[in-house]
Amino acid sequence: MLVWEDEVRNPAQPAQPAHQPVPPIALQSAAQAATLQLMPAVAAATAVTARPAQSPARAVPVATAPTQAIRAEAASTRRVNAADKRIINGQTDVNQLVPFKYKWAWEKYLSSCANHWMPSEINMSRDIATWKDPNGLTEDERRIIKRNLGFFVTADSLAANNIVLGTYRHITAPECRQFLLRQAFEEAIHTHAYQYIVESLGLDESEIFNAYHEIPSIRDKDEFLIPFIDAIMDPAFTTGTPQADQTLLKSLIVFACLMEGLFFYVGFTQILSMGRQNKMMGAAEQYQYILRDESMHCNFGIDLINQIKLENPGLWTPAFKAEIKALFDKAVELEYRYAEDTMPRGVLGLNASMFKGYLRYIANRRATQIGLDALFPNEENPFPWMSEMIDLKKERNFFETRVIDYQTGGALAWD
Ligand code: FE
Repeated sequence: MLVWEDEVRNPAQPAQPAHQPVPPIALQSAAQAATLQLMPAVAAATAVTARPAQSPARAVPVATAPTQAIRAEAASTRRVNAADKRIINGQTDVNQLVPFKYKWAWEKYLSSCANHWMPSEINMSRDIATWKDPNGLTEDERRIIKRNLGFFVTADSLAANNIVLGTYRHITAPECRQFLLRQAFEEAIHTHAYQYIVESLGLDESEIFNAYHEIPSIRDKDEFLIPFIDAIMDPAFTTGTPQADQTLLKSLIVFACLMEGLFFYVGFTQILSMGRQNKMMGAAEQYQYILRDESMHCNFGIDLINQIKLENPGLWTPAFKAEIKALFDKAVELEYRYAEDTMPRGVLGLNASMFKGYLRYIANRRATQIGLDALFPNEENPFPWMSEMIDLKKERNFFETRVIDYQTGGALAWD
């Protein structure tokens, strides 16, 4: 057995360095190969979101597509110094998770893993009976469920595509990429959950999955989002100039603060209200877990945005802030129209005008979280129970349909 003394006494075999960097050229080719393989997927994903007004991004030739990832991977073979890491435009090796610089990202990754769940674990039998019973739900309640699923069945696919084919490429901090990988899987779980509800209730799949083309209040929300996905999925898009960095930052703000942080909240509140009234409790339980995940996505996105601002203070110009404020205003308007469309009358003790205050309250919160002034000062939360839903630890299920501990990550112990 080779021991330390043997190595010292017998220098014939040169000691291997602890760190053996892979030649940058090999990494670059691997990354290029991966990128080239990705291109048909990019095309397919953008085709899914095809709209009459297509962005020019879709026509950009693949050959002119250097990505942030390639640049970072090809950067340096020096050992990584945490202080050198950057969220965007970093030059450190993205394959080396440690040394950590952004511990908040790693901690959020661990928390998300500890809250793992799967849709099929949730019992849907009472929901199925309620849905099939002609007196189980009112027409207005059924409309809420169908509109809700109509939005969400494709919304989380948009979110997943945005992460996998867009955001991920441009983020150069590996601990943040690690969270994004987990987030992408959670978006898949959410799409699965909505599909599982559609299938369980025996809804018309074609109607629900095409709602984002066919229902104006849903289509308008998606059309608002798609340009911000297209911009960063464009194979030719790369950060590194103030304008491009602002494009990425804007996309991150739209996704974290306005999509996951605002566009989800009318729907979440409606279905969770049903659960609070002992209706559709299986669906409500699924939504509760989704809300918890989305709340983490939103918080991670806000941390990411604030860190990018800190590292690149020149991006946060008065003109840029004014542009972001206008996007917030537009998003509140679109989500309010969605509230009106899904609740033409009062239902479940809710009505559309209650959501005007709620959406303004949430928009204020998101704006101040990223360092903007509140857009609608002095708005109060008309649904304080929603905050409890987000913060609740799931050691015991809120709806008490079963007792479960989802803290799987924390339950491991090795004797
Ligand atoms: Fe999400």
